[in-house]
Amino acid sequence: MKKIMIDMDDVICDGGFLSLVNQFLKANYTLKDVKSYYIQDLIPKEQYKEWSEFFNTKNVYDYVKFLPNTYEVMEKLSKKYELYITTAYIFRDNEEYSANNLKNKFEWLSKNLPFISPDNYIFTTNKEIINCDIKIDDKLSNLSGNAQMKMLFTAYHNKELTDKELEKNGVIRVNGWKDIEKILLK
Ligand SMILES: [Mg+2]
Repeated sequence: MKKIMIDMDDVICDGGFLSLVNQFLKANYTLKDVKSYYIQDLIPKEQYKEWSEFFNTKNVYDYVKFLPNTYEVMEKLSKKYELYITTAYIFRDNEEYSANNLKNKFEWLSKNLPFISPDNYIFTTNKEIINCDIKIDDKLSNLSGNAQMKMLFTAYHNKELTDKELEKNGVIRVNGWKDIEKILLK
């Protein structure tokens, strides 16, 4: 069976960071307001310390939801491909809390995607070292390295990338799990 590397955040589930930022700021930001890859950049600098203290008591995965059609398409894919969930867990600003994040990711994945064995979780920041036939991620730099097919999963922070730029990197764009189903399960 061919192997697929699948990213977790903003591919399988989303909304956790934004929900916590809104709780903290008592705001109603949507993903359209986010100008950088890091949603927490919406926090004003002077509130960042307070934000970190608030954030470190929370589990991001208590506030996420599946992206549309994820479960059903992944379950179908799991019968024809070997699926590897490949996700980074180191917090940029709170490295010392990263072990909690790893635990929270593990628990969410094992509870919500029971058809994928925890043996197939890969927790790493450097996805370039992963050799899979197919790679799916919302961050272009995570699609580097070996693969026959590379799919950029559309997300708030990558909409500006043109098809031409993607083509240069040997990458195609997918706008959700229905697109992936059409390509991989036709
Ligand atoms: Mg991601």
